[in-house]
Amino acid sequence: MMEIFTSRAALQAYLRQLRKLNKPIGLVPTMGALHAGHLSLIKQAQSQNDVVVCSIFVNPTQFNDPKDLEKYPRTIDADIRMLQDANCDVLFNPDVKEIYDNHEQWHLPLGELEHLLEGEFRPGHYQGVTQVVSILLSVVEPDTAFFGQKDYQQFLVISKMVRMLHIPVKLVMCPIKREPDGLAMSSRNVHLSADERSHALILSKTLNWVKDNFKSTPFPQLKAEAESMISREAGVELEYIEIANGETLKPAPESDKNIVALVAARVGKTRLIDNVILV
Ligand code: AMP
Repeated sequence: MMEIFTSRAALQAYLRQLRKLNKPIGLVPTMGALHAGHLSLIKQAQSQNDVVVCSIFVNPTQFNDPKDLEKYPRTIDADIRMLQDANCDVLFNPDVKEIYDNHEQWHLPLGELEHLLEGEFRPGHYQGVTQVVSILLSVVEPDTAFFGQKDYQQFLVISKMVRMLHIPVKLVMCPIKREPDGLAMSSRNVHLSADERSHALILSKTLNWVKDNFKSTPFPQLKAEAESMISREAGVELEYIEIANGETLKPAPESDKNIVALVAARVGKTRLIDNVILV
């Protein structure tokens, strides 16, 4: 049976017993509305740990748009069933007070990473992400924490935070799970109408095209063509597409050894992101 905790003290008391038995603990932080992408993180965590803790917490401080927070899908009963079916050991499902009561909001100097790409379109987002992830890491004290490549920039930001604060945890980035037609799985996909969903495919199609063509096309041209492919798609409003260095996220020269293409767009009212690692 999966143990479910809403209080951090109770969770910590439970995990202390397991730690005494030298059981490695893996953490999978989520905002719920679970799908197969989340479950792939749980599976990877299970393959490397004796105990897997999944957290479900819709973190208000990372939403720059109050409407987005309000309509974020919440499906806790279905989530619990999915986690039980996946043999997850522990669910941590705190409320906002349990996480942020008595918590001073600090600003972590994340540098340029915070202001590029997602940071430009979602001001303050990564301060909220680092706040909640640092709290989850200090409550759970996992040996390893698992995050999706889907949120590539988030992984870089969390890696930077862990280095800056000397948090003793190993971070693992797990591949993007996609629908059979290529759409990256996301909790927000439930907001797409059938029509919007078909237009949203332009994001993964364009990233695939970039992957197929980056070796033979100068990057400025690659980016311009990708931009125009997305901009031509009805109902899709491009925010950015960048061919970036995989560590700095600044535009990459063709000679870079670590390159990722990242995209964000609005499809109707729904904001979607996707990316592909090129080298
Ligand atoms: P979220 O609930 O959207 O905050 O996501 C929780 C974790 O699941 C994050 O580390 C995401 O990067 C990861 N994730 C979300 N969608 C996917 C996906 N399609 N494939 C793999 N991981 C994902």
